[in-house]
Amino acid sequence: MRLDHKNIWVIVEKKDKEIHPVSFELLSKGLALKKELGESLVAVFPGDAGKKDINMLEQYGADEILLINSERSPAGSCETVAELICMAVEEEKPQVLLAGATIYGRTLMPLIAVRLKTGLTADCTELSIDRDRKILLQTRPAFGGNIMATIECADSRPQMATVRPRVFRMEKKPGAVKAMVVSKSYSPGVRRAARVLETAVREESLDIGQAEVIVAGGRGLGKPEGFDLISELADKIGGMTGASRGAVDLGWISQAHQVGQTGHTVSPKLYVACGISGAVQHLAGMKGSGTIIAVNEDPDAPIFEAADYGIVGDLYDIVPGILKELERGESK
Ligand SMILES: Cc1cc2nc3c(=O)[nH]c(=O)nc-3n(C[C@H](O)[C@H](O)[C@H](O)COP(=O)(O)OP(=O)(O)OC[C@H]3O[C@@H](n4cnc5c(N)ncnc54)[C@H](O)[C@@H]3O)c2cc1C
Repeated sequence: MRLDHKNIWVIVEKKDKEIHPVSFELLSKGLALKKELGESLVAVFPGDAGKKDINMLEQYGADEILLINSERSPAGSCETVAELICMAVEEEKPQVLLAGATIYGRTLMPLIAVRLKTGLTADCTELSIDRDRKILLQTRPAFGGNIMATIECADSRPQMATVRPRVFRMEKKPGAVKAMVVSKSYSPGVRRAARVLETAVREESLDIGQAEVIVAGGRGLGKPEGFDLISELADKIGGMTGASRGAVDLGWISQAHQVGQTGHTVSPKLYVACGISGAVQHLAGMKGSGTIIAVNEDPDAPIFEAADYGIVGDLYDIVPGILKELERGESK
């Protein structure tokens, strides 16, 4: 353990004026790590936090809220925020630095890691502490998802990791005490790697990660039109349409629908997988679902090992059959 470095920092992200849920998920995990390390949990907030933000961060267990700002202008672009966080890290020397594996976190964290000359493990699926050595164990899929690798950052500090939304549960800390709010301003140099010329809104603003019900289709659909059937069932039960990478790679549906290691991590109450074999990379993104139903014509398909209910058969018989039953139920 490096004695000159202490505390666990979580970078807070704001999305549409609200704190992104991944920040609370990381604070919840940070609380568990803190128990092992016996250090403080610090929410790092770029810019000025409102009363509501501070209250929320306290409820999720932050001991301290570090508001970091630029002396010249508000903390805005990723480059500026990265520079401000680096300055704060050099002064405060945290042991661990965590952020969500969102577009924001994925842009920010490499900028910080490169400048601080430390390691960064992206897309972790588990974080824990080696009790004897008091170091962070960062687990993530490796070699195409065929193994889970546990990565250590042996010498440099801070130990940095990103985690995708919904990998960890967010849990409010009962009876949370008021966090200490510390405000610091830094004066970053004028260094700009990129300039935003225009901001375009993505055509598809689907957020499958938040869906409570997902009906997903795979290569077993056999043709792109198969997704009409999948979407019909999804609409009928108030859900969203998901897909395997196999189907996305064939161009049958857009990447926004992809579930898995290189797609979205989802944890709906109900996940219905139709014509999906259940490769480890797919399971990595949906194994946290409440109830999993699999429809596959191959009784040995690995998806059945992850499923709570399995239906062996042709999805083109089974899905229309389910739709018919639902319609019958509605008309009663
Ligand atoms: C680095 C890396 C990252 C990856 N990331 C992802 C990821 O994020 N998400 C992901 O999904 N994959 C990912 N993959 C790909 C993954 O390994 C699989 O190739 C992919 O999930 C297979 O998609 P599939 O299940 O739709 O197709 P297949 O494996 O071809 O399975 C099709 C299934 O449909 C069944 N079937 C066929 N016809 C019917 C029918 N009429 N009725 C019922 N069942 C039928 C078959 O029995 C079969 O089990 C990744 C791979 C790598 C190497």
